[in-house]
Amino acid sequence: MKYFNEEHDLFRQSLREFLSREVSPNIEVWEKAGKIPKSIWKKMGDMGFLGLSFPEKYGGSDLDFFFEVIFNEELGRLNCGGFIITQQVVQYMSAPYIYKYGSEQLKDKYLPGIISGDLISCIGITEPDAGSDTKNIQTKAELIDNHYVINGSKTFITNGIYGDFVILVVKTDPKAGAKGVSLLCVDLDLKGITKNKINKLGWHSSDTAELGFDNVKVPKENLIGEEGNGFYYLMNGLQLERLCFLPSNVATMEYALSESLNYMSERKAFGRTIDKFDVLRHRISQLSSELEAIKAFSYHCCDLFNKGIYDVKSCSMGKLIVTELHEKISTQCLQFFGGNGYTEDYPMARMFRDSRIGTIGGGTSEIMRAIIAKVIIDDVKYEKVKSNVISKESLISSNSNLLNQEKISTLEKSDKHDLSLATKTIAIAENTIDIAIKHINQTNITINKTSSSQVIRHQIAQLASEIECNKQFVSSIFNSLESTENLEKEISMAKLISLQLMDKVVSECFEMFGTYDSLEQHPLEEIFQNSKLIRISNSKRELHDTISNLIIEKN
Ligand SMILES: Cc1cc2nc3c(=O)[nH]c(=O)nc-3n(C[C@H](O)[C@H](O)[C@H](O)COP(=O)(O)OP(=O)(O)OC[C@H]3O[C@@H](n4cnc5c(N)ncnc54)[C@H](O)[C@@H]3O)c2cc1C
Repeated sequence: MKYFNEEHDLFRQSLREFLSREVSPNIEVWEKAGKIPKSIWKKMGDMGFLGLSFPEKYGGSDLDFFFEVIFNEELGRLNCGGFIITQQVVQYMSAPYIYKYGSEQLKDKYLPGIISGDLISCIGITEPDAGSDTKNIQTKAELIDNHYVINGSKTFITNGIYGDFVILVVKTDPKAGAKGVSLLCVDLDLKGITKNKINKLGWHSSDTAELGFDNVKVPKENLIGEEGNGFYYLMNGLQLERLCFLPSNVATMEYALSESLNYMSERKAFGRTIDKFDVLRHRISQLSSELEAIKAFSYHCCDLFNKGIYDVKSCSMGKLIVTELHEKISTQCLQFFGGNGYTEDYPMARMFRDSRIGTIGGGTSEIMRAIIAKVIIDDVKYEKVKSNVISKESLISSNSNLLNQEKISTLEKSDKHDLSLATKTIAIAENTIDIAIKHINQTNITINKTSSSQVIRHQIAQLASEIECNKQFVSSIFNSLESTENLEKEISMAKLISLQLMDKVVSECFEMFGTYDSLEQHPLEEIFQNSKLIRISNSKRELHDTISNLIIEKN
């Protein structure tokens, strides 16, 4: 699938050149200072690098979402979580609420500043006693005459110290649960606001704050959209927040692998460079294969968003997999550097501490699995909230059958047997998950709806996410058979991870059915036998050899 055209490429080139000149040389200084000078955002604004998909009316460029993808990829390549999160919060996590649901007055007041780089914004959801459990926030805003009067506190607010305004999540009707939540636009220099900087494990150049609100007065015109709709705006907006982590994390992981390969090709142990050791080569092969799969899935999710398709399941799956893999790649790539990996002289130390937040911020991995489980097990449908922006909603279904029988048969007849095997193994994994979901739903009906163990639900959510990701990977290879330069490598990668996934899905689902006296009685007996047969006739070691040879020798 081709997502980028010549204009995208030119934009990437100029942004990359700007970042290497204006940002890279300063990162160490900003990390040590715990602060990024506002002048850099102004420079980026002047260059037209901010507000890429916002309308020209407010100073934006009205470009498609793949320009935003490039923005995230190029900032991700800098390997500085603190730098990228500052603008991700502005461009994707706070300003869009004003744009999508705010009044013209609010748009005119705030959007030009975030696009020119003059203003930095924040999103204020989390409180000392309410993080994952967003509905339980306690910060109150009471409408008195023409003002909202705010009392309460927020914590972990990115850009809270040096930012200019916050999209504050408040309770305007504390008794109404989710229906009592509203969003207010609050300038951060108002009387009654206190700020306290939080010391963090990573993201050192990004400022994170505790914010206190003591009878803070804001005009009632600062309400975003309708009172009581805040929770629904938030649930919609969180999809973009999660989505932007995909391209940025993928790019940082690519950087980690490329730096690792360079280091390994020079570092010697026992008389040879360490990239000659099989265990390290196989680790490179494993991590690279997983990364290629999530990259394909990431582009697919961004493509859905670009087409105006609201897909909570994909965003949650993407965020879950990309942040978990980022953590794994940071740890395992640091290991390639030995003692040097643990020092500030090499890139992995910063990546190691910066990546740790991924599975926590913007909704934890556990919350992602809970959302995915609701969609795939309980068949919950998440609806898009009506915004005041004209949507370019497409009629394309996000659930098109990627690996249909027709595609598999075409592959079987061609010389792409390995790709055909990858599709077959994914189909087995998918079928197994379907059987497991039916099983737990039936058990629920006969016992009671809440009896299904949370552990099993989360396990199914995880496996289903990995299947979806690999399906997209295989599908992307299938769709670009003629144009892909590295076909052998990509097909081997797809085969490797599909075989591994089939094994994992079948074994884990096998256990979900409880105990049986013999294998023959088990409902998954046939699938189990079949998967083992496929497994023993396909050597994982040989695949790792092929993939690592193709990666390392090319490097
Ligand atoms: C550096 C940083 C920057 C941040 N920036 C922002 C920001 O700009 N704005 C903002 O509003 N917030 C921000 N956050 C907050 C972040 O979104 C929250 O930390 C996150 O949502 C988790 O909430 P919590 O910390 O209260 O954890 P908790 O909700 O207390 O969760 C603790 C643990 O319990 C698990 N858990 C909770 N509920 C369940 C459940 N139902 N089932 C299973 N497990 C569960 C969680 O997964 C987690 O592992 C930031 C956090 C950090 C660390």
